[in-house]
Amino acid sequence: MRRIGLYGGTFDPFHCAHLRLACALRDELKLDEVRLVPAGLPYHRDHGPHASASQRLDMVRLAIAGEPGLIADDREIRRGKNAYTVETLEELRSELTPQDELWCLIGGDSLARLASWHRWQAIFTLANLAVALRPGFDPAHLAPAISAQWQARQVSDFSKRTPSGTIRALTLAPVDVSATDIRARLAAGADVSGLVPAAVLDYIRAQQLYRNT
Ligand code: ATP
Repeated sequence: MRRIGLYGGTFDPFHCAHLRLACALRDELKLDEVRLVPAGLPYHRDHGPHASASQRLDMVRLAIAGEPGLIADDREIRRGKNAYTVETLEELRSELTPQDELWCLIGGDSLARLASWHRWQAIFTLANLAVALRPGFDPAHLAPAISAQWQARQVSDFSKRTPSGTIRALTLAPVDVSATDIRARLAAGADVSGLVPAAVLDYIRAQQLYRNT
């Protein structure tokens, strides 16, 4: 039996909180590997990504170099059209056996918007959901449809593992880091060295990214 994690995002840029979350997903849930999947054309954003798909993939690769079990996966970028999480999970599922565990990692802000995702209920038939709490996350403010899932599917006892259908909150303390804030700091010429892995920061400088965002 294999235990695989999927962590998708715009990663514009890939920052230290993303890396910390991917490692926590791997370690807390004892996963064999975590696939980091930069979105090709993120459909739920009101503006396009600032860096290109290949630059965002490069940044993921640089950030995870040498991290055991973390793998950059370019399948959504190769798809070249709107990438729905449910389709990526279906694709990954088709590469696994029915007993294999699949975990999809999302932040608490993404969980709050889950009901707007394409075929969101199908996600629970394909994977378990790992939720990374973000500052300000309050389960009391979840929409009723999501709150019902949060209450019914949440597991704390990890002895009964299951291929799909449960929700687990990572125990990791929330950190207040976002790509939006990092882009704004870079545009203002402020220091982001503690927020972005060093190799990613070198790349951002070399590619002259996020100067006018
Ligand atoms: P932006 O500010 O541009 O929206 P972001 O920092 O939220 O970007 P994304 O690439 O959109 O980064 O995030 C990918 C996933 O990681 C999302 O599910 C998001 O909720 C989650 N995430 C990002 N940063 C954090 C964080 N600091 N804590 C918990 N989850 C996070």
